[in-house]
Amino acid sequence: MLKEIEQLLILQDRDRKIRALKTELKLLPGERKAMEEKLAKSTQQYEAEKLKGKSIEVERKGLEIEAATKRDTIAKYNLQKFQTRKNEEFQAITNEIKRYEADVSALEDRELELMEAADQQKRVVAEAEKGAAEVKAQFARNVQYLEEKIVAIQEQLKELETDRTRLAGHVEEDLLDTYNRLFNSKSDNAVVGLDHEVCTGCHMRLTASTSAKVRAAREVAHCEQCGRILYWVN
Ligand SMILES: [Zn+2]
Repeated sequence: MLKEIEQLLILQDRDRKIRALKTELKLLPGERKAMEEKLAKSTQQYEAEKLKGKSIEVERKGLEIEAATKRDTIAKYNLQKFQTRKNEEFQAITNEIKRYEADVSALEDRELELMEAADQQKRVVAEAEKGAAEVKAQFARNVQYLEEKIVAIQEQLKELETDRTRLAGHVEEDLLDTYNRLFNSKSDNAVVGLDHEVCTGCHMRLTASTSAKVRAAREVAHCEQCGRILYWVN
């Protein structure tokens, strides 16, 4: 194989690795963002459930106070009832007491419902807390992994780029320019094999003379169709 071709194939290998790593590196911030969103969502859910639990408790306490006030009023009416001598007034007070007692009974029913709801909500909050803690722990692990991955990729890239510069230094300038242009425009395939007179880059059949030139491997030959640099395979 022509020395230039050998050099370019190694260079192409490094360039492909560099490009793949750069692509991977670009995707990592997106991964991190998705993880952050998941974490925020689970924390928000936990906070929302806690708030719901609190509002149930606030409502229940409000009802408790309301019922206590009404019970006080009933006690006052009961005293008044036996102090009055007028039958009409006695009856009016008795009716008021009945009305208040019905109110208290309704309040107590609602309080009971809220106590059940509060118990249920406690379980929901505990579940949400557990879920949020799991997501948080997972996030911490994944972020650490992600950060280590970024550092590892950056180190690899640095090594590859140093190697790439060294390798490129051995290639003649015009040929390197051609190679660079092809690598960027032909999706990482600048140097390709010639297989049974077919360019493996564009899959077109080459003329016999170009094919012979590639086989002879005395000078750098290009595909007539796509311009890629060719080397002999079969
Ligand atoms: Zn071609």
